[in-house]
Amino acid sequence: MPEQAGSADAAVEIAVVGGGLIGAVAVLGIAAQGRRVALVEQAAPATAPGRFGHDLRNIAAAPATRRLLEDVDVWRALAPVPYRAMRVWDARGTGTLVFDAAELDREALGWMLENGPTQVAVWDALRAHPNVVLRVGEPVAGVRAAADRVTLELGAARLDAALLIGADGARSRVRAALGVAAETHETGHAALATVVRTSAPHAGVAYQCFLEDGPLALLPGPEPDLASVVWSQPPAAAARRQALPEPAFCAEIARCMDACLGTIRASDERVVFPLQQLLAASFHPHPRVLLIGDAAHVLHPLAGLGANLGFEDVRALLDVLTRLPLAADPAAPGIWRAFARQRRTRAALMVQAMAGLQRLYAATGPLGQLLRNTGVDWFNRSGPLKRQIMAEAMGLGALH
Ligand SMILES: Cc1cc2nc3c(=O)[nH]c(=O)nc-3n(C[C@H](O)[C@H](O)[C@H](O)COP(=O)(O)OP(=O)(O)OC[C@H]3O[C@@H](n4cnc5c(N)ncnc54)[C@H](O)[C@@H]3O)c2cc1C
Repeated sequence: MPEQAGSADAAVEIAVVGGGLIGAVAVLGIAAQGRRVALVEQAAPATAPGRFGHDLRNIAAAPATRRLLEDVDVWRALAPVPYRAMRVWDARGTGTLVFDAAELDREALGWMLENGPTQVAVWDALRAHPNVVLRVGEPVAGVRAAADRVTLELGAARLDAALLIGADGARSRVRAALGVAAETHETGHAALATVVRTSAPHAGVAYQCFLEDGPLALLPGPEPDLASVVWSQPPAAAARRQALPEPAFCAEIARCMDACLGTIRASDERVVFPLQQLLAASFHPHPRVLLIGDAAHVLHPLAGLGANLGFEDVRALLDVLTRLPLAADPAAPGIWRAFARQRRTRAALMVQAMAGLQRLYAATGPLGQLLRNTGVDWFNRSGPLKRQIMAEAMGLGALH
């Protein structure tokens, strides 16, 4: 399907604004159901490999995310790096939380995916799909929602849809145009991300240490001696560490991580992202509008769950659409009410859980320390409870 730019007014059944990971996969899933769907995106994705040939941004995909990507038939085009275990500890404590896929009789807890190549692979599939209309290079400037349709204002052109899905990220234009309030939660953190070369192989293990000023993660990369770094910390600390000479930065990571992967030999470019949690007041602000992904909720990356939560939105959305006859109005009265309520309840819980974890690990003083150490030891020994929590975190649902 050709990418249309600046084309005349048109109408589609469903329009998705935002072709990031969440919006693009939603479009693919909707198209696979035999529905005609438009994706409106201001700029097509491109890969920007760093010095080591890999993206600086990654997501840790949970098993439920893998299943979704398999169902829309893009998983086989990706280059996932499995991680089979995770070690989490507190720089001031004694306990180390250990999660091992073997405890759940699985070969991996999840898979690292590079953002850029993953997005490009999803877009390749979109371009090849006959049900997808791509409107690229036309940022949404305004949205008019009426009883029978929603109209997107794209510069000089317009696009009408029976159902509009806003997947346009944390600073969503769709959310703002509909006047939806967004609760924001300051985390006091910015995330420094990069890729490093290590002297010891990661062997498929993800490491995260809660330092006094925030968590630092070393995640398995696509080569045995490459690891992705996500270091959440106060913005001033992130700026200082971004500006450090490379050898000093590498030495600081190795020291902070108790040399879990030996010495750090080299680092790629360091990029810093502001971190603010966000929860939209409504995920269904008009009978013909839904919000999903970061447009609806943004999480602190300390548990690597933000995109996974967005992919859960996509799965739930596809489940509703599957039950709807193809000829029916995709915004018929009441069909999205339960979806919106359940997704918002889940997202609110995750925002609270991330804030709680951040507080627990930031707490100074003997009580915080005691809780962290005894809590961690108890949790490691807790058998069924630990397995249940791991299963939930991996999106496997209840274990029976
Ligand atoms: C450092 C860091 C590490 C992370 N690690 C993980 C992890 O391990 N696991 C995990 O699950 N999540 C992780 N996340 C979170 C994850 O990256 C995000 O939740 C996810 O990428 C959000 O995807 P999205 O498609 O909803 O939004 P976005 O990626 O923001 O995409 C929005 C799209 O909308 C387009 N757009 C915006 N405005 C307009 C407009 N007006 N008109 C047209 N198009 C528009 C943009 O161009 C963009 O393509 C991490 C986040 C950070 C910051």
